[in-house]
Amino acid sequence: MWRLLLVLAATAIPCRGAPDAAESMAERAVMVRDQIVRRGIEDPVVISAMRNTPRHAFVPESLRDHAYEDRPLPIGFGQTISQPYIVAYMTELIGPRSGMKVLEIGTGSGYQAAVLAEAGVKVYSIEIIGALARRAAEALRDAGYGRVVLRSGDGYYGWEEAAPFDAIIVTAAAEAIPPPLLSQLANDGVLIIPVGPPLGTQYLVRVSREDGRTRTQRLLPVRFVPFVRNGGS
Ligand code: SAH
Repeated sequence: MWRLLLVLAATAIPCRGAPDAAESMAERAVMVRDQIVRRGIEDPVVISAMRNTPRHAFVPESLRDHAYEDRPLPIGFGQTISQPYIVAYMTELIGPRSGMKVLEIGTGSGYQAAVLAEAGVKVYSIEIIGALARRAAEALRDAGYGRVVLRSGDGYYGWEEAAPFDAIIVTAAAEAIPPPLLSQLANDGVLIIPVGPPLGTQYLVRVSREDGRTRTQRLLPVRFVPFVRNGGS
């Protein structure tokens, strides 16, 4: 009897944690099918990045059961982790490929940065709230995305030393496009940014540069937290 119990205990140990991983993979498969593919996301690189990135590792502990729902979630400091579909949509817009260099403004939880890293991109990300930047750094490291390069500060100025970028993704709504970001785009680069007033209608805007000429397209109405200039700590 004792021997049997010991054997059971010993075999149970290596399995700990595995059901959780399997469960979250299953939840992501449903999320990708119902929220991402059904709404028209087609890029296989984006689909596989959304399927593999553990969103639950980037939401507060108390909200983990809701991590794969079709909505943004609060992450503290009045900020949010975007709805999965918006993350997939913005990621698809830049056409992520291995070896690309991408700047994200607004690290927040670190989830968008993780999705980009999962797509093979070299990610630089800036967050203005120091405490969020520190928490995102920890979450990214713990989830195996330690190669994402993070900085705490005002993303308005971009990241001059690491420029030019193949793409820049801004995840907070600005009243106007910050000129330093445009100047840090590579030739043929693309900038994705929500533009509009904090409480009014905002649009996701795509700015592309081809042979020195700039083309701006308004894509869809969105609701993002505001791009701030001096809220850092
Ligand atoms: N991409 C994030 C979404 C976070 S919400 C995620 O995947 O979770 C947008 C974030 O932008 C907030 O954390 C906010 O603090 C940050 N932010 C707002 N203005 C900023 C600025 N000027 N520079 C850098 N980050 C900024």
